[in-house]
Amino acid sequence: MDNIIIKNLEVYCNHGVYREENVLGQKFLVSAKLSLNTRKAGIADALDVSVDYASVCKFINDYMKSHTFKLLEAVAEHLTLAMFAHFEMLHGITLEIKKPWAPIGLPIDYVSVEINREWHTAYVALGSNLGDKLSYLENAVASIKNDVNCKLLKISDFIITAPYGPVEQDDFLNGCLKLETLYTPNELLAFLQRLEEAANRSHEIHWGPRTLDLDILLYDDLIMNSDDLVIPHPEMHKRDFVLRPLSQIAPYAVHPLYNVRIKDMLDDED
Ligand code: AMP
Repeated sequence: MDNIIIKNLEVYCNHGVYREENVLGQKFLVSAKLSLNTRKAGIADALDVSVDYASVCKFINDYMKSHTFKLLEAVAEHLTLAMFAHFEMLHGITLEIKKPWAPIGLPIDYVSVEINREWHTAYVALGSNLGDKLSYLENAVASIKNDVNCKLLKISDFIITAPYGPVEQDDFLNGCLKLETLYTPNELLAFLQRLEEAANRSHEIHWGPRTLDLDILLYDDLIMNSDDLVIPHPEMHKRDFVLRPLSQIAPYAVHPLYNVRIKDMLDDED
């Protein structure tokens, strides 16, 4: 990725823990490293295929003046999210916000908070075998699409599959999504679990019928395991109802643990 760099943009605004700071305001200095692919703009010498740094500076200035936060961390986090929503071409942002007049009663150059955020690619499996299955899946897709932390890139067909496991139950409707997300893996899991809960999922019977089941299959090339999250999903390579829709939207994605393409995993299964 390439970078466009903005150094020490001066903004007078009202962030701070103390009331005086919120009323009187003070000087902040904002530095941003915007990562994006500038090759097209470079070859064509055309601003409309890059990000206009003048617009970015104006956006930062307006955002910081029209919001008030207590913490620099909060200014940085919310501002970054708003910048991603506004400037679609941005892949990553490193943002440093300096407070040279921080009221700490000691001589200091400045205090600052620097954060780094970027879009991550994730694949999510969807399933339902209770009630209006199609609506459950469509509602989940709509919620993901409407979340500012997610960009929905691809949806597979929804396929009807036979139930798995020991419990006798209705057929499933299954599908997969490709998305870009600003969520960490654990935040993405929590977000998907909120959608499951909103669909009134019953957790009573393990392997039993469910209105909505959402699983994280892949997250970048990440390999992780914690008590409540395993990535890549530990069962994905064995599940035809996952590999078939996943192979439709990402045949050449590579499973980072087995180093095998999804399409080849599916072919090996047959
Ligand atoms: P289930 O809904 O039956 O797929 O199981 C959900 C449980 O699996 C949750 O408690 C999660 O914490 C855990 N889990 C572990 N890895 C994953 C993953 N990659 N995606 C979704 N849930 C996961």
